[in-house]
Amino acid sequence: MIFIQRLKKSFGDNKVLKGIDLEIEKGQVVVLIGPSGSGKTTFLRCLNVLEVPDEGKIAIGGQTMDFSKKVHPKAIAEFRRLTGMVFQGYNLFPHMTSLGNVMEGPVTVKKESREEAAAKAEYFLAKVGLGDKLEAYPFQLSGGQQQRVGIARALAMEPNVMLFDEPTSALDPELVGDVLKVMKDLAEEGMTMIVVTHEMRFAREVADKVIFMDGGVIVESGAPDKLFTKPEKERTKQFLSMIQ
Ligand code: ADP
Repeated sequence: MIFIQRLKKSFGDNKVLKGIDLEIEKGQVVVLIGPSGSGKTTFLRCLNVLEVPDEGKIAIGGQTMDFSKKVHPKAIAEFRRLTGMVFQGYNLFPHMTSLGNVMEGPVTVKKESREEAAAKAEYFLAKVGLGDKLEAYPFQLSGGQQQRVGIARALAMEPNVMLFDEPTSALDPELVGDVLKVMKDLAEEGMTMIVVTHEMRFAREVADKVIFMDGGVIVESGAPDKLFTKPEKERTKQFLSMIQ
């Protein structure tokens, strides 16, 4: 369902992604781990085309972007709709209610009617356990609740793939569980997900595949059981020994 070929991205002289190849099947949950600065966030942002890769191809659900050619902003905007991004810092509009935040994309980008978008927003907010917070503003919500609004907002665009960039790392520890539970439920429903996280328990329990990135390349990947207990590469062993 997702094919990524030779994906490269530099910022000036800093070669951040040095040729990423990856295939993900529909319904798979892939967890990306690796040291800070290894390119995990940049990789997710490239998939969402918040950063435009320098080279390589991404295909999602039959649509392909070839970044070795010049890509039109309109094509980028369309391709972006295939992925829903959940950010570490929630990025909600502070002056809008939960309902308003979740409706915004469907109304402005997908040109849905307000009635249709509101009904859908209600559905997705209920799904993330916030059916009673439709009219609350972000400042009236806990970090965990705000992040669940962020998840509902991404779901409301009905993407093929959900991308999560350290979704729980800004949260107080007691709020992490609710967000992970929502993500686990989504995974069980068959959502295709790519998750950057430090939550190794989540990776062990939910991931179909764990990918260890370092220095802008995929060093090693495999089923969580295998990667966590019998890593093959020295760099993977070193990293795991530091975090476990
Ligand atoms: P990770 O998510 O694994 O911590 P990042 O993708 O955030 O890694 O960062 C990888 C490298 O890319 C870092 O050296 C970072 O400074 C650099 N980088 C990321 N985004 C930008 C940007 N917008 N402009 C310049 N450098 C960036």
